[in-house]
Amino acid sequence: MFGYDWPRLHAALNDLPTALLLMAALFELLALASRKESFRVVSFWTLVVGAIGAVAAVLSGLQAEESIAHGDAVHRVMESHELLAFVTLGIFGVLALWRIWREHRMGRAERALVLGLMLGGAGVLTATAAYGGRLVFDHAAGIPTEVLTTEIENRAAGHAHAPGEGHGDEAHDHGPATAPVGADSTQPAVETGGSDHVDSPGTPPHSHEAQEPPGHSHPAGTPAHEH
Ligand SMILES: [Zn+2]
Repeated sequence: MFGYDWPRLHAALNDLPTALLLMAALFELLALASRKESFRVVSFWTLVVGAIGAVAAVLSGLQAEESIAHGDAVHRVMESHELLAFVTLGIFGVLALWRIWREHRMGRAERALVLGLMLGGAGVLTATAAYGGRLVFDHAAGIPTEVLTTEIENRAAGHAHAPGEGHGDEAHDHGPATAPVGADSTQPAVETGGSDHVDSPGTPPHSHEAQEPPGHSHPAGTPAHEH
């Protein structure tokens, strides 16, 4: 729908728990500091809606996990991200149900416990988000391999800005991003072929066919998912 696939939908839905649940914790803290009941009401409703958002984020994340091309690096970070996300959902899910049930009957000790759990949950949520960011920015998770290949080639080719249309103040050239020192700077530095080379003597026999990225194995109990 609207060109969205599961990874994109997951990236969009993640904003809900991240924004709402952190606000819920912040407003509970403000309610304690200011003794204003209105802050407590804000905390309650952002918590409830944020917990529903967390369910949507987790469900779309599980679908995204099944649908992205990945190797070992993504797999490892994804497992940590997933575990942290389940803990986040568990903490805030329990908190939401607890407050729906007990909001108007809590004493001071119970309120303090709720606040402590909300702040702890906010910490785990932040860690979940950080791992999600690593998936995308360190490992290009969710970026299809052909899109990534095209982008690498495009960046390697470089480009020039005319005066006045740069993203900085001055006109500048972007040379090939990864050209080694002394290389002909008019040529893209990324090797895109792979079949036009000579092996040195003693190289073990190997195929020069285009290959899938190296695979990886899963520990027993990992749900089946595409690679
Ligand atoms: Zn995997």
